[in-house]
Parts: sequence; C-alpha cells; structure tokens
Amino acid sequence: MDNEQYANGLYKEDSQLEMVKKGIQAEGMPEISISPGYGRLLTMLVQMSGSKAALEIGALGGYSGICIARGLSEGGMLTSLELEQKYADVAGRHLQEAGLGGKVQYRVGDAKATLAALAEEGHRYDFFFIDADKEGYPVYLDWALKLAEPGAIIVGDNVLLRGRVTNEEKQGPSVAAMREFNKRIAEDERLTSTVLPGYDGLAIAVVNGR
Ligand code: MG
Repeated sequence: MDNEQYANGLYKEDSQLEMVKKGIQAEGMPEISISPGYGRLLTMLVQMSGSKAALEIGALGGYSGICIARGLSEGGMLTSLELEQKYADVAGRHLQEAGLGGKVQYRVGDAKATLAALAEEGHRYDFFFIDADKEGYPVYLDWALKLAEPGAIIVGDNVLLRGRVTNEEKQGPSVAAMREFNKRIAEDERLTSTVLPGYDGLAIAVVNGR
C-alpha cells in the first residue's frame, strides 16, 4: 500500500464520486479525474474561503465540479466552462444526481471566448479551478487575474505533466506553457502561492488584496 492509498483508505468510499467515475468510464470519456484526497482539498479551499462564485475551466465528467460545489456557501454558484457539449451534459447529469444541480451552470464552447464574454458581462469570481488544455494555462491565468475578487483562490491542476515539466529534454508547447504558468504563479506579485509536487502537481494561489 502506498501513501496515497493509505490516506484514501482512511475515508469511507464516496458513493457520489464513485458514480461519476463509473459514468465517465461508461461514456468512454478520458479517465483523468482528480484523486479523492485532492477533491477533499478543493472542497476545503472553497469552504475555507467562503466562496460564493466559483469558476472551473474544464468540466470533464463533473468530479471536481461536485467537490467544488460541495464547499460553496449558501447561495453559491459554480460556473463551469467546457469545450465539449457531451462532457457538459454528462457533468451536469452527475451534479444533478449528487443533488448539486442547482449550484452549477455550464457554459459550452472555447473557454477563451467564454472568459471574454464573462468579463464583458461583468462577472467576478472568488475561486478558480484551471484544469483544461495545458497550452491555455498562461492565458487562463491572465483571465483568472482579470476576473478575480480580492482574496480569490486560483488552483491549477497537472502543473507537472507527469514528469515532463521537470524533464529538460521536453520542449513541446504544453510543457512550455506549463513552465510559464508555474513561473508566473511563483513570481507574480499579486499572488501569494505555492506549487505542490503531490499528485500530478497542483498550484494554489491567493490573489492579494483582501
Ligand atoms: Mg487535470
């Protein structure tokens, strides 16, 4: 048993999240949802920050969406951006089945266009989860900073790209984008942040100013 298995074994199986994993499998969607312990961390971050307006970039099957929605305070809403209509439908069904359908809205299409529209509409958010195409991460960070309330939390998933980010021989566009994202998370003076080497790497930042 490894450390992650041990830590997960301390908790009862989460039937709602297991249902999501089975649904993703049945639909033939990529099985790249976050781990249970990571999901608990998302719920905690949303809960601790008292978030009322969360934004997720990349819905997939709704696993992280459930974890985020669970942490929202009364009247809170998750806006989830998804490129594929089918994935948004599956995620929406899973949140509905988890009793969280009233806490999520999906916006389908290219996230960059949707983010511009959200800014145009005057929306602001206090929690961001970036978990979409890796080449887009630096642009998604720009948008998160534009759309952030003071004190907002920004979380980025997969910031190590399964070892590719630390492998100097890897120079592809996703790897380059992720290195830029991580550097900016670390150096941007508007943020207090950490980059954790757990799971596939996760960046957590707070937008200063609250
Ligand atoms: Mg991911």
